[in-house]
Amino acid sequence: MTSIRTRILLSYLAVLGVSMGIVLLFVWLTAPAAYARHLQNLQAVEETGTAHNPSEAGQGQGYGAQRGQAQYVGFRDGLYEVLGLSTLAATLAALALSILFSRRIISPLQNMMQASERIAAGHYEKRVKVGGRDELAQLADSFNRMAQTLDQTETMRRRLIGDVSHELRTPLTTIKGFAEGLMDGVLPASQETYAEIYKEADRLTRLVEDLQEVSRVEAQAYRLEIAPVELNALAETVAKRLRLALEEKNITFSVKLPASLPPLLGDEDRLIQILTNLAANACQHTPSGGNITLAARPENGSVHVSIQDTGEGIAPEHLPHIFDRFYRVDKSRSRQSGGSGIGLTIARHLVEAHGGRIWAESPGLGYGSTFHFTIPAA
Ligand code: ADP
Repeated sequence: MTSIRTRILLSYLAVLGVSMGIVLLFVWLTAPAAYARHLQNLQAVEETGTAHNPSEAGQGQGYGAQRGQAQYVGFRDGLYEVLGLSTLAATLAALALSILFSRRIISPLQNMMQASERIAAGHYEKRVKVGGRDELAQLADSFNRMAQTLDQTETMRRRLIGDVSHELRTPLTTIKGFAEGLMDGVLPASQETYAEIYKEADRLTRLVEDLQEVSRVEAQAYRLEIAPVELNALAETVAKRLRLALEEKNITFSVKLPASLPPLLGDEDRLIQILTNLAANACQHTPSGGNITLAARPENGSVHVSIQDTGEGIAPEHLPHIFDRFYRVDKSRSRQSGGSGIGLTIARHLVEAHGGRIWAESPGLGYGSTFHFTIPAA
C-alpha cells in the first residue's frame, strides 16, 4: 500500500485527469451540434440579406458586417454552450470522485475516533480494523497496541484488588474471631490467645510488606546498581542468612561452582534477594535431612544458576503458575507457614529486570525441584 502523501497526490491527479477527460468528451459530443446550429444561423442571415436588397449598392457592406457579427455570435454561443456543459459535467465528476477519495481517508479516522471514545468510556476491549500499511494503518496499529496495554493494566488492577482483598480477609477474619471469643468470654484471656492474635497481625504485616515490595518491583520503581559480582560471595551471604533455618531442619547447603565461572553482571542486593527467595523456598519445601545444591555454569554470555533441592517437588500442573502473584500450591499450608505466594513473583521480576530468565523444573511430587535462572556474565 502506498503512503498517504502519494495517495492524496494520486487522488488529485485522478480528479484532474477525469475532469479534463470529461471536458474533452463533452466538447467532442456537443461541438458538432453547436457547429450545426451556428451554420443554420449563418444561413438564415445570408438568406435574409439576399432577400432584402440583392442588387442595391452600399447594401453589400451592411450585409458583410451583419454576416461577420452573426458568425462571431454563433461561434461565441457555441463555445459557451460546449464549455458550460462540459464544465458542469467535469465539476460533478470531480465532486463525486473527491467525496469517494476523502471518504477512504476519513473513514479509518472516524473509526479510530469512535474507538477512542469507547475506550475513554472504559471499554478497553475496543479495537480498530487495520487495513494496508500506510500511515493510517500504522496509526491504527499503535492505537490498538495502546488499547491492549490499557486493557491489560485494567485487568491486572482488578485482579490485584481482588487478590489483595482475598489475602487480607483470612488473617482479619481470624483476628476478629479471637477478639469476639475474648469479648464473649468463650476464649480465655490467656497468653496463648494473645500470642495467636499477635501471630495473625504479624502475618498481615508481612503480607503488606510483601505487597509493597511486589508493587515496587512490578512498577520497576527501583534502580539496579549493576556491577560485576562473584556468585561465590553471594552464596556465602545466602548461606549465612539461612543458617538457622537450615540447621533447624538439618539440611545441607552445598555450593558447586566451576573455577572458571565469570562474575555475574548485576545488582548485588537484588541478586542476594533472588537467591535467598529460592534457597528459602527450597529449605521450606525440603524435609529434614535433605540437601540443597547451588550450581552454576557459563552459557552464551550469561551465567546459568540453579538451586536444586531433594524436597517435596512440584506437580506438573502447578509448574506453569508458581511464578504468578499469590499462587501457592498448598494454600492453607503455605499460609500457615507465612507464605503469601509473592516470593517467586518478585524473583521473576528481578531476574527479568537484569535481562535474564527464570524457570522451574521438577520430575514430580516427592522428587525434588530445581529452580534455574540466567544473569548476564560480566
Ligand atoms: P510462598 O511465599 O508461598 O512460598 P512463592 O512465590 O515463593 O510463595 O512460591 C509459590 C509456590 O511455589 C509455593 O506456595 C510453593 O508451593 C511452590 N514452591 C516454591 N518453591 C518450591 C520448592 N523449592 N519446592 C516445592 N515447591 C515450591
